[in-house]
Amino acid sequence: MTQPPVRLKLAADRHERLAQLRTCFPLAAGPELGEQWQGGRAEALQRLSAADAVAYSHSRNHLDGAVTRLSPYLRHGCLSLPEAVTAIRNTFGPRGMKLIAELSYKDYFRQVWYRFGNAIEQAMEPPKVVLGEPPLPEFVGQGFTGLVCMDDIVHALQHEGYVHNHARMWFASYVLHWLKVDWHAAAEWFEQHLLDGDLASNHLSWQWVASSFSHKPYYFNKENILKFGGERWCQHCKVTCPFDASYEALEQRLFTLPATSTHLPAENTESIAKNTGGNAPIDHADSLVWLHDEMLSPTHPLLAKAQGIVFVFDPALYGHWPLKRLQFMADCLAEIPEADIWTGNTQQVLASYSQRHILSQDTPNTSLKAAVNDARLAWVKESGLYDITFSDHELMRFSRYWKKVEPLVFAKEKQR
Ligand SMILES: Cc1cc2nc3c(=O)[nH]c(=O)nc-3n(C[C@H](O)[C@H](O)[C@H](O)COP(=O)(O)OP(=O)(O)OC[C@H]3O[C@@H](n4cnc5c(N)ncnc54)[C@H](O)[C@@H]3O)c2cc1C
Repeated sequence: MTQPPVRLKLAADRHERLAQLRTCFPLAAGPELGEQWQGGRAEALQRLSAADAVAYSHSRNHLDGAVTRLSPYLRHGCLSLPEAVTAIRNTFGPRGMKLIAELSYKDYFRQVWYRFGNAIEQAMEPPKVVLGEPPLPEFVGQGFTGLVCMDDIVHALQHEGYVHNHARMWFASYVLHWLKVDWHAAAEWFEQHLLDGDLASNHLSWQWVASSFSHKPYYFNKENILKFGGERWCQHCKVTCPFDASYEALEQRLFTLPATSTHLPAENTESIAKNTGGNAPIDHADSLVWLHDEMLSPTHPLLAKAQGIVFVFDPALYGHWPLKRLQFMADCLAEIPEADIWTGNTQQVLASYSQRHILSQDTPNTSLKAAVNDARLAWVKESGLYDITFSDHELMRFSRYWKKVEPLVFAKEKQR
């Protein structure tokens, strides 16, 4: 039987908050949030102002390059994409273009999610090489492959919840093309451990590596690891390196079988439910804002005139999240003291606020939508990065999206 919802007075002290979370989510897995991470908008703004977009443009592929580590903050809405892009554009001008392009990647994946809905969890198009079907072996998930690089990536994923983009690509490629593991199961497992876990960015990136959302599979060799990761791993590695070969040799070794003839079911491309995204007129009088995990900012526009704010630590939504990510969210919520925080079932909590209009930020995330099947709730369109529409064809490749978007980045009419 489900427990009735309980009001939670979130402690101001981080350690006390951790104890509260442990009580609410006794099964939350994994270690605590590391010292290097603190959720919330204040921290997000600091990271944004520390971003060096010029250094980023020539070093982002290196593990010790000038990457921003903003992804958990963008994922949870502590900072919006338009805010981040505007700040980089104003500070760096055209020299910030590479970072703006990468930020736009997140917008791109989100647009794909809005357009194609949960079909992004299936192959977007036929893979160009044979992909495997077995689930992720336990020894990989536990970081016991013997390959120091891959085991270290798994360790970072599980302990910190953050992995550099290049390392994510290497790991996904190793799992999909060397081990021939089913991409879908691997992607789900990977996302579960991330602080920035996001269905669209994660699943579509795995598909990009797999070649079911790209023209070719992504693979790499030892030289590439040494170039962008340095000696840190290889010098300690005792096993025969499966990556130590030329690209030609690896291509032979990994992809000698012909591509599968799997075709997308017709409905994948044609009759995918289109998420239109509500555009309800905002009536703030007597309105209650249901905060969800994509909008955790004290300056979110919907909160400005709201008469009440509610967040629910709903086990159906967050019961499978690792402890560190729950802590990250609790840090964010601590910056919104006017919010009523609850644990329990979201619908039951909202039902207790009878006679109130409920507003929330629209989302392509169907789990969030299912959690609040409430006729009183109006979904308000989120502020998008670019005010343009894309065809299905344009959304099938970032290069097509970017071709349309790039000229607008510095165009007068789209300044925010
Ligand atoms: C297999 C795989 C799984 C991934 N899963 C996720 C995920 O669940 N959530 C997630 O946010 N990103 C995911 N990414 C994309 C990318 O790896 C991370 O966004 C990035 O590493 C975050 O680090 P950063 O903030 O230092 O990025 P920076 O390089 O500093 O980039 C700044 C911001 O731009 C956005 N961004 C940059 N590159 C990408 C990209 N390729 N795709 C989407 N957004 C990007 C992120 O919001 C990021 O915070 C995944 C990539 C791969 C290859």
